[in-house]
Amino acid sequence: MENQKNCIFCKIIKGEIPSYKIYEDENTLAFLDIKPLSKGHVLVIPKKHVEYLNELDEETAKEVMGIIPKIASAVISQEGVEGWNLLSNNGKFSGQEIFHIHFHIIPRRNKDGLGY
Ligand code: 5GP
Ligand code: ZN
Repeated sequence: MENQKNCIFCKIIKGEIPSYKIYEDENTLAFLDIKPLSKGHVLVIPKKHVEYLNELDEETAKEVMGIIPKIASAVISQEGVEGWNLLSNNGKFSGQEIFHIHFHIIPRRNKDGLGY
C-alpha cells in the first residue's frame, strides 16, 4: 500500500495517529471526523495515498465509492437521521485541508444550522 510520510490520513491508516474507526477492509477505511460538522460525521478514504479524486484510478474509485452506501446506511441507523450529505473537497480553492482523498458523510438533522 502506498503511504506518504507526512500525511495525517496515511498515519491514521498505519495506526500512528489514533482514530475511531467504523469500517475497514483491504483498500478502504472509514473513521469519525475529529471536528464533526454534525454528530456522526464520518470520513471515508482509500488506503492508497492519492491527493485528488480526479487523479484516482478507476478500480480504487469503484472500491472506495462502492462502499459508501453501506457505510452511510450504518451511519443513518446509528444516528437515527433521515438525511445526510456526501462531500469531497478537491484542490486548494475547494476547502480541501488534507491532501489525501476523502469523502465526508455528514448526518443532517432538522434545523441543524449547517449552511448547505
Ligand atoms: P477537508 O477540508 O480536507 O475536506 O477535510 C478534512 C477533514 O479531516 C476535516 O473535517 C478535519 O476535521 C478532519 N481531520 C483533520 N485531521 C484529523 C485527524 O487527525 N483525525 C480525524 N479523525 N480527522 C481529522
Ligand atoms: Zn495519505
